[in-house]
Amino acid sequence: MAETVELGDIEAARDRIDGHVMRTPVVPCFDLSDRCDGDVRLKLEILQPTGAFKLRGATNALLALSPEDRARGVVASSTGNHGRAIAYASKLLGIRAVICMSDLVPQVKIDGIRRLGAEVRIVGKSQDEADVEADRLVREEGMIFVSPYDDRAVIAGQGTIGLELLEDLPDLDVAVVPLSGGGLIAGIARALKSLKPSVEIVGVTMERGAAMHESLKAGHPVPVEEYKSLADSLGGGIGLDNRYSFAMTRDLVDRSLLVSEEQIAEAMRYLFRVQQLAVEGGAAVGIAALLNGLLDVRGKQAAVVVSGRNVDMDLFTRLATGELNGLP
Ligand SMILES: *Cc1c(COP(=O)(O)O)cnc(C)c1O
Repeated sequence: MAETVELGDIEAARDRIDGHVMRTPVVPCFDLSDRCDGDVRLKLEILQPTGAFKLRGATNALLALSPEDRARGVVASSTGNHGRAIAYASKLLGIRAVICMSDLVPQVKIDGIRRLGAEVRIVGKSQDEADVEADRLVREEGMIFVSPYDDRAVIAGQGTIGLELLEDLPDLDVAVVPLSGGGLIAGIARALKSLKPSVEIVGVTMERGAAMHESLKAGHPVPVEEYKSLADSLGGGIGLDNRYSFAMTRDLVDRSLLVSEEQIAEAMRYLFRVQQLAVEGGAAVGIAALLNGLLDVRGKQAAVVVSGRNVDMDLFTRLATGELNGLP
């Protein structure tokens, strides 16, 4: 099996997920365009039924399984958007799914994933302990593990965003993409660089706990300390045994930028006040980079991937009104 994801894999993913996943619109942001002296467009992955783009990769990964593997069921270890995506896609396709999480996870998140149709298994006091249970299900019960970012079918699924961007914006100059494990940016970058090599690909993540950013600097995957962040969906490591997303990000991404908690809060508030969009912190990092001039898009067309909307609404309201400027 090839150790990367090619354009053909992404095109196959698009055909596979068509009808199961939204083809999302890109909308202009006139205010940000004025401020940046460029043409800024927003790719609204917040419109996916699970609230985030991860449905693309999860759906492609499940559809690509052989009938034998589908019968074995899938397991994921995620309390966030990947867990929701696996739950939703597995229900749609009639595949058994088990999502492992620790007993630190708030009840609303557990209920949300159960409601989407997956079995939730609560184990231990940390996500690491939940990961051990996921490993056990794979080893002892023969279930199929689906990584949120380091999986060829997942990366190909996220890459379908790149195909849609170029169809809608043939003059695109810059793509600004939230960056965590790198599945999203790796897929988008492969699609864009294959079809239009001049497009610049910029990753953005939070200052605190930027695993891919530090790994790119080191030249290999490194562990980072984890902190609480408004961009909780960008947390976590990239896996010290990373197989695909690190090398693809290293080879295809032009720049990696960091934004502060205050800048993320400001960007969430901005998207709500100016564009009437409620988004989670991890989805606002690209806007934060542009609002703060970290990236020069003068005279260029830039697409910002607005990746998800799964945010605690009490927290969101306090951020949107300016009562908070970061986590409480
Ligand atoms: C997972 C996620 C990301 C980052 O995607 P990676 O493939 O891990 O880089 C960005 N935004 C949201 C909302 C996410 O859920």
